[in-house]
Order: sequence, then structure tokens, then C-alpha cells
Amino acid sequence: MITNNLWDFISPVNCAICGNEYSRNDGFICLPCRNKLKLAVYKADPAEYLSKRYFYFDLLISLYDYDNMVKPLIISFKERDRVELADFVAESASNNVISDLNADIITAVPLSRSKKLARGYNQSELFARSLSKYSGIRYLPMLACRGKREVQKKMNYSSRFLNIIGRYKPYKKVNCIGKTVLLVDDVVTTGATLNECARIIKKMGANAVFSLTIARVNI
Ligand SMILES: [Zn+2]
Repeated sequence: MITNNLWDFISPVNCAICGNEYSRNDGFICLPCRNKLKLAVYKADPAEYLSKRYFYFDLLISLYDYDNMVKPLIISFKERDRVELADFVAESASNNVISDLNADIITAVPLSRSKKLARGYNQSELFARSLSKYSGIRYLPMLACRGKREVQKKMNYSSRFLNIIGRYKPYKKVNCIGKTVLLVDDVVTTGATLNECARIIKKMGANAVFSLTIARVNI
């Protein structure tokens, strides 16, 4: 059997946050980073955080602030194939926020087919699946993406909400009538994406939708 120490020698692993080499024995990120990374669980009524706009989801929870430590963590997870980080954030979410939510279903914000093909995975789906593993709550794909849209990043606040309407549709027939759904994404900024997903999930019959993201950009 190949031990972690031998693996470290053959193929050194770099910390997803600081980039330094470290031992796999230390876990998903290096020890100094783990000691510095502060969980900043944020739980709020979405309207309180995101403006007075009406939101379809009932609660917003974020694990971390999108700061200088969390940004490289998200980028590594999202764009550099560090898929094992799904377990790192899911374990943290499972230990700190999931138990009191009483969710019935975990689902993720979907990626467009072309984006998923290009990246090879949907980071939010990996996070959701891993959460399911740690919490015992079942994971179900509930939404699919319709075609292309313009990149939200370049848009102003209101345009993001308008641009995203009709972007998602139900994925197959999922019975979620009266259920509480935990909707998972990587980062929340304006909340437009989560809002549109929650709108569809409620239309499908869910009683409550809680949004959970790894990080939150303070806008
Ligand atoms: Zn580090």
C-alpha cells in the first residue's frame, strides 16, 4: 500500500490556499492555513442581507466570507480540479449548520452543459453530494440549465435578476411537494441565481428552500 508519505515524495501536494507544499497527512489544506481559516457562518433572512427585494428562498447561510484566504480556496475547487475540497467544506457545513435545518433534500445550482463539459464537473454539485454523504440527507438533482445566457459578472445588480429569469427548469420529475430543500452553490453575491433556482423549486411544490453557499461576497 502506498502511504501518504510516499505519495508526498512522489507527487508533492500544494496547499489550495497558500500554495506551499505540505503533507497529505495534514488533510485538505496545510496546518497553518487551517489554523488561520475562520469559519464565519452567516445566517439571515435573504432580504435582510441582499436588499428589500422579494426572495423566494427562506434562509441564506454562508460558511465563509469571500476574503483573501477563501478566494484561492474557491478558485482551486472550481477551476483547478481540487475536487477533494468538496469534502473539506461539506464536513465543515455538516458539523456546523446542517443539523438544525431539518432539510429533506439537498440539491445544487446546475451548470450549463457546455460549462460542465469544459470543466469536467460542477463544483456546487460536488459540494451538494458530499454534504449528502456527511449529513445523510439525500441528494437529488432538481434543476437543469436552459441554453446560453450572458455572463452575469458584467451586469449591474438589477440586470442580474432580470437576465436570469427562465434560466433554469425542473430536471426530470422530482416529487418535492411539502419538502424542505437545501439549495447549494459555491458563492453568493447578489443572490440572483439562488433566487431564480428557489423560484423554480417552490413552483415544483417545495415548502421551504434554504440556500447554502461556501462563501459570501459582501456587497
Ligand atoms: Zn496553506
